[in-house]
Amino acid sequence: MILKKIFLVFLTAALFFGCATAEKKQSENGELNEAELSYLADESQHRTFLNSVKEEEAVLRKVSAKALINSNGYDKLEKLMSRELESGQGVGIAAPQVGVNRRLIIVQRLDKEGQPFEFYYNPEIVKRSGEQKEGWEGCLSIPAGFGKVMRWYEIDLEYDRLKEGAVVREHEKIRGFTAVIFQHEIDHLDGVLFIDRKSGDEPLMPKDEYYEMRRREKAAAASEEKAE
Ligand code: ZN
Repeated sequence: MILKKIFLVFLTAALFFGCATAEKKQSENGELNEAELSYLADESQHRTFLNSVKEEEAVLRKVSAKALINSNGYDKLEKLMSRELESGQGVGIAAPQVGVNRRLIIVQRLDKEGQPFEFYYNPEIVKRSGEQKEGWEGCLSIPAGFGKVMRWYEIDLEYDRLKEGAVVREHEKIRGFTAVIFQHEIDHLDGVLFIDRKSGDEPLMPKDEYYEMRRREKAAAASEEKAE
């Protein structure tokens, strides 16, 4: 009887240990865990997370974990990210911005024909080069407005790609504004927001004001073109 009890205790311990190990393995290899899967299944919770909401800012500030391309639930995550990016009319979005701390981003490839929106799993900048340039940036997660940020002109990017069922690393050189989008989105995966890198001490320019400034710039450029 006692032996049986000991065996049961041992078995329970072994099962518990087994589960804990499985859970750990799951998050290390990039598969979504139970909490993430149930969040993705509950559409009523889906939204763009904002830095003006305390609980949402905490998610935006976390370092995200590895993502596993093509594994369970990532189709749902991709759909949610696409939808929020489209409704916000942005050029890029990162998974933490929709509440999932995984290393997955969408970038609009303004440097490619047709300017497609593409997904990048576990993207990493392995080299920064060229000069640094200052430019205006905004963020779907920062309602306060736009600010100027210094970014590298050229980056060497590595990311995962599926090749004949296996995950392989891809390497690519990217320049110009598309490289700026990658730098902004990959920062999100490390809990960094553009306001952390903003140059100068001026407050952010409110969104309405920024769009008005851009509209005027465009109009001025168009009338200049006409005059020529
Ligand atoms: Zn952003």
